[in-house]
Amino acid sequence: MKPVLVEVKIDPDHINRPHAIRNAALQKAGLPSGADVSTRVTRRSVDARSRRPLFVLQVAVGEPDAVEPREAIFKPIRLGDRRVIIVGAGPAGYFAALTLLEHGIRPIVVERGKDVTLRRKDLKKIYTEGLINPDSNYCFGEGGAGAYSDGKLYTRATKRGNVGRVLDLLIANGAPGDIRIDAHPHLGSNMLPRIVRAMRDDIIACGGEVHFDTRVDDFILENGQVTGVRANGAQKLSADAVLLATGHSARDIFRTLMARGILVEAKPFAMGVRIEHPQPLIDRIFYHQSPRNENLPAASYRIATQVDGRGVFSFCMCPGGYVVPASTAPGELVLNGMSLASRRAPFANAGLVVEIRLDDVAADNNPLSALDFQASVEQAMFAAGDGVTQQAPAQRVGDFVAGNLSSNLPKSSYIPGIYSAPVHDLLPPMVAASLRKALPELGRKFKGFDSNEAKVLAVESRTSSPVRIPRDRDTLEHVSVKGLFPCGEGAGYAGGIVSAAMDGEKVALAIVQSLGLA
Ligand SMILES: Cc1cc2nc3c(=O)[nH]c(=O)nc-3n(C[C@H](O)[C@H](O)[C@H](O)COP(=O)(O)OP(=O)(O)OC[C@H]3O[C@@H](n4cnc5c(N)ncnc54)[C@H](O)[C@@H]3O)c2cc1C
Repeated sequence: MKPVLVEVKIDPDHINRPHAIRNAALQKAGLPSGADVSTRVTRRSVDARSRRPLFVLQVAVGEPDAVEPREAIFKPIRLGDRRVIIVGAGPAGYFAALTLLEHGIRPIVVERGKDVTLRRKDLKKIYTEGLINPDSNYCFGEGGAGAYSDGKLYTRATKRGNVGRVLDLLIANGAPGDIRIDAHPHLGSNMLPRIVRAMRDDIIACGGEVHFDTRVDDFILENGQVTGVRANGAQKLSADAVLLATGHSARDIFRTLMARGILVEAKPFAMGVRIEHPQPLIDRIFYHQSPRNENLPAASYRIATQVDGRGVFSFCMCPGGYVVPASTAPGELVLNGMSLASRRAPFANAGLVVEIRLDDVAADNNPLSALDFQASVEQAMFAAGDGVTQQAPAQRVGDFVAGNLSSNLPKSSYIPGIYSAPVHDLLPPMVAASLRKALPELGRKFKGFDSNEAKVLAVESRTSSPVRIPRDRDTLEHVSVKGLFPCGEGAGYAGGIVSAAMDGEKVALAIVQSLGLA
């Protein structure tokens, strides 16, 4: 028979019964239950619109026996003498390195932080001593900002690259095959480091280089062309091209570019709070049931509203997750979220942020104004605390909206601890005002969302880069500096693990072209 794709709705109680799924798919395809044809689930999501959530499965019926490629895609190949320096071992950097290797170009990855395993020790010090290592933290180190995260792998930027290829490469390096099926796949912080390590092994086995503890602090320029970088003060590394994938938190790199006269532009970004609810409350709001059916994943949400024409939206929602300190320098406080693969923690958290426009902070279009604004809020949040640890100011949602200090706080997943503070006063006025108007409205749409069981923690300030490093639309080279290829989230061309990975691949291909090796 000609293969067909059918959609079936399955009760959560039956999701672990392959026969029930197969029979439902055969019936939908108009075939008898004993038909001798293959069935394979190709997509899985949850439809929670009705009172009883259902799994929605897309099933391919009658496919010829096709085995998905699962072995490593990259094999050692003969490398030419061209050297490309990749600054940053985040998703953009590592996917770029693998793409260059496919084309016979040796990538030299330089990373300011430590390898993904050693990095864990520095994360621990944030919790135990309040110590932020400016080169090794939740944003910096092998795997980049994505390594100790929720590991959500969905992106809306599907037109910017081949999402399937990115997912296949993750699977080839140890991710479960389900990420190809789930509509909203995620990996979790316990799975990601192993995958990152496997990717590094591939890069090195195929002839690439990866150097940790190597912070780039300058660019070597000759006649409007980048010919290399300087690292750790004295080390000089020459290259045929430099791919810059340093992420949205590398303020020192943005400043170095500006000091060198290399154009960097301010761009809109967002700022707000991490909002944390008990997970059962989120299950009740979005699944209409609590406790939820044990076969359903922890409920998640993505919500948005407008306040006086300004966007307020949720960001990086982590069901069954933890709020984490994502600061990158001593003396600042920045929050984000992560989860483990099981997403079993008792809390749900998400960024709830307000759109920051250029004329709010950088009317002069000066990128320094945007960076300074972001940094000043993060420093104020730290200064409001004990001046030592990463304790976060927090407020019950009802108190935040009413402008009252909370007399006590509910429990939180945030390990450094929370303390009662007037978050409504600590945030920039426009951010606080927009959130205080948005929350009651969100509470009306999603009953209980603004309950006093929920609290806001501050500050969520690194949703995206406040600056862009502009590049030529066709060559992807910096608009005025030859040989420099801005890439990934820090350059303003990605937002999330998969889109950064796709941008890494795309920019690597542009470098192949520019070196005449396509
Ligand atoms: C806690 C947390 C949770 C997140 N959760 C998710 C999620 O669930 N799903 C999702 O899609 N996205 C998530 N994100 C965002 C995601 O991680 C980023 O969008 C993505 O990692 C960006 O990739 P990148 O390669 O462009 O930059 P990054 O991942 O930021 O990597 C940049 C790398 O460059 C290095 N670097 C910086 N400066 C220098 C220098 N001067 N010299 C050498 N190296 C340098 C850094 O150490 C870092 O390793 C999360 C982020 C955080 C912080």
